[in-house]
Amino acid sequence: MTITNSLPQDGVIGLDALEERLHADLAWLNLPPAPWLPPMAHAEGPVLDIAIVGAGMGGLAVAGALRLLGLHATLFDKAPRDFEGPWATTALMETLRSPKQISGPALDLPALTFYAWYQAQFGRAAWEALDKIPRLQWADYLGWYRRVLSLDVRSEHEVKAVRPRSDHLVELTVEHESKPQTVLARRVVLALGLEAFGGPLIPDFVNGLPRDKWSHSIEPLDYGRLAGRRVGLVGGSAAAMDCAGTALEADAARVDLLIRRQDFPRINYAKGAGNPGFQYGYTSLADEWKFRFAHFTAAVGFPPPRGSVLRVSRHTNAHFHFGCPVQRVKQLNNQLLVSTPRGNFEFDHLILATGFRLDWALHPEFAGFSGDVKTWADTFTPPPGTGLPELAATPYLSNTFQFQAKVPGSCPGLEQIYCFCFPSTLSNGHVTGLIPGVSIGAKRLAEALASSLYDEDREILYQQILEFDDPEVMGDEWHPETLQ
Ligand SMILES: Cc1cc2nc3c(=O)[nH]c(=O)nc-3n(C[C@H](O)[C@H](O)[C@H](O)COP(=O)(O)OP(=O)(O)OC[C@H]3O[C@@H](n4cnc5c(N)ncnc54)[C@H](O)[C@@H]3O)c2cc1C
Repeated sequence: MTITNSLPQDGVIGLDALEERLHADLAWLNLPPAPWLPPMAHAEGPVLDIAIVGAGMGGLAVAGALRLLGLHATLFDKAPRDFEGPWATTALMETLRSPKQISGPALDLPALTFYAWYQAQFGRAAWEALDKIPRLQWADYLGWYRRVLSLDVRSEHEVKAVRPRSDHLVELTVEHESKPQTVLARRVVLALGLEAFGGPLIPDFVNGLPRDKWSHSIEPLDYGRLAGRRVGLVGGSAAAMDCAGTALEADAARVDLLIRRQDFPRINYAKGAGNPGFQYGYTSLADEWKFRFAHFTAAVGFPPPRGSVLRVSRHTNAHFHFGCPVQRVKQLNNQLLVSTPRGNFEFDHLILATGFRLDWALHPEFAGFSGDVKTWADTFTPPPGTGLPELAATPYLSNTFQFQAKVPGSCPGLEQIYCFCFPSTLSNGHVTGLIPGVSIGAKRLAEALASSLYDEDREILYQQILEFDDPEVMGDEWHPETLQ
């Protein structure tokens, strides 16, 4: 393997050279190791070692970490190739919120970072000039990540059912081109993103309104339809700013942001917690402390990124109304009349940037086990006055992301299902779902999977040790003294 010793002045080496560098780094680390897990023989056919549902950033990072441990994961994603996750589909922001230097899913491999990927193509000067990562470039980078690590992603494969079985396997129904197929797996990782086990939070005030008069921020919307229209935007989050900015850029006549709080939260406290101590130490905290952190950040809220607010406020027809919760909405002719404590508004369209809620009922694919999942409400009583229903409904996971049964032993196979997405945050901290900690979480999960699979196959692996036949000493290296 030839390695480029001297980098060109401008740093542009191209992706081929970067890939060569990555493969050299892996070779120097003697990675990846040879596969070591024996294939499982089963009367019903092949059994996957590890199935990952969701090939967004989280699923890819876990599959990458498993490869570095000599394990193979099969990833299923319902999205078409390169359209996994929000980046090239529902996301509307111009750039990521995170700083450009984040190493994200790079698994401690410098040549696998966004930084290296960007600089290899566009050079040092462009990197210096870059403020934040454009979202579509982040999507491109994740596509490169998948390709360069040769991850086994089955695109347009929707997992329609996940059923733990009494023989401790997990049965999946996977649909591709409208054909369902049954797949067995020894371990299943759910890497489903922000909407996992729930969906958009829809306030009651839109009940009964025509569906084309309102939309949720997470839904695809033809913003061109809003040209010349009066748009109401409910919420003050990053998503609210992205929707408002997009509507204004699509020539909405005016956009009124109806924000319940008296002011934007100014400080992103979750960012303040972003240090290795928090990322590594969180899991061993007592439940009281986990709840305290999570409750505090949820209660104070997250500020929208400054750039996103400026994207809205530079339009003179954008209006920010604080202390302005929606009380009622009525339809009159073709308009929506919205009542708030700050007065009444008339809109042609209402966009709800009201966030997400956890509701297993929205996901029949998990009906095979959702009723058995132990939640925080089953095991933890929050201090008086601090309850948040979303936190109470969150699954109570093991330190290695496993679901646990409400009644131990009542749902065999449940312990083979791992939650590597947003609802794991309360149990495991900020090491899933967000870019900065994702490698830490992915490596922790991969190590847990390796050790539990090793333990499960210990008899076969022990037998392999006994049968290991690779002599290091041949017997011809010395002449034993013969006794006189
Ligand atoms: C608009 C937006 C901006 C964000 N910006 C930042 C940021 O700047 N910094 C940061 O740290 N975080 C950010 N996040 C949060 C986080 O990084 C992203 O949500 C990220 O996509 C999480 O990765 P993930 O793999 O967990 O989920 P996703 O990327 O959402 O991937 C989940 C995948 O699961 C698939 N899937 C779901 N159900 C099934 C099924 N039944 N069968 C098959 N496939 C299925 C989906 O198709 C999807 O591709 C942002 C999130 C959003 C929505």
